[in-house]
Amino acid sequence: MPEIRIDLYSDTLSLPTPEMRRFACFAPVGDEQKGEDPSVNQLQEMVAEMLGKEDAVFLPSGTMCNQISLAVHCRPGDVILLDRTAHPLIAESGGTAILAAATAYPIDGPDGMFTPEQVSALMFPPSRYRPTMRVVSIEQTTNAPGGRIWPLEQLREVCGVAHEWGLATHMDGARLFNASVASGIDVSDYAATLDSVWIDLSKGLGAPVGAVLAGSREFIEEAWQWKQRIGGAMRQAGIIAAAGIHALRHHITRLAQDHENARRLARQIAEIPGLGIDLASVETNIVRFETSGLGVSPPEFARRLEEEEGVRVSTPGPFLRAVTYLDISESDVDEAAAAMRRLARRIGAGEK
Ligand SMILES: *Cc1c(COP(=O)(O)O)cnc(C)c1O
Repeated sequence: MPEIRIDLYSDTLSLPTPEMRRFACFAPVGDEQKGEDPSVNQLQEMVAEMLGKEDAVFLPSGTMCNQISLAVHCRPGDVILLDRTAHPLIAESGGTAILAAATAYPIDGPDGMFTPEQVSALMFPPSRYRPTMRVVSIEQTTNAPGGRIWPLEQLREVCGVAHEWGLATHMDGARLFNASVASGIDVSDYAATLDSVWIDLSKGLGAPVGAVLAGSREFIEEAWQWKQRIGGAMRQAGIIAAAGIHALRHHITRLAQDHENARRLARQIAEIPGLGIDLASVETNIVRFETSGLGVSPPEFARRLEEEEGVRVSTPGPFLRAVTYLDISESDVDEAAAAMRRLARRIGAGEK
């Protein structure tokens, strides 16, 4: 395999910076299961405070945050309402069927963002024949649909309908800080109408591991029991929690640079004959584009881009996805676009 020069596969590829490594190295640690790890405790307090929630729990991954939250909200047989592109549906190995023992109802929301009317249409009075609608889960930003930001008003309205019908509300906030930095709306405003909400430390924030789930004291107490149950409780986890503290202190406002780089990439892609992109859809750090004008499939374009140019993107659907993050510079973006232009020209000229 040729060397990958520029990797736009995902913001999960972000590496801990030297400063982050140094800070984590000397972090005070203890037994987190016993509540005695000062760094874990500090991280949990920071996130609870930022999100305006009573309490928070540090977990090894965002996937575990989703799985535990849905398991806490649901009883076996209940229904989880979420967009058809939502992470628990497409990328968590069917865990909700096992851990929450729940049924997931996919909603077809435009760009991953469904409407209050779509939720209302699924509500009905209690009935012995029907499963109980238990929780509405939303993704901020939407991942597969391209980093789109749920407008605050729409989010509030969807949560309003859910609460009216007695459903809980959950936010997969893997990229909540991206939404906040791009829109200027505080994360606590987005989180206010959610019963549970989590943020990922290992995406654009650049920490190597971990996510933090927040909610009411009671909710987090139950989440802790699940954490223990499924082996998510750790020991001297402060060594990784500290990287998260560093990320929250130093890597939030810089997300604006990732967004600027994403727009920069998108503008250049728009100029390449044969590639298709909707510039207005690029709101955060994810760029979606397509190749129908070239007559090649997205996976074929991605394969050649990697093999012939050393630029990697992903193909999570009938499109290509490029993601910017803290190790991707302005010049990386320019080089990636130049590589796409060269490949598109070769394909246009019929070169195999
Ligand atoms: C990455 C991601 C997750 C899972 O987070 P991990 O920390 O990788 O387990 C969940 N939801 C969304 C929207 C994501 O992008």
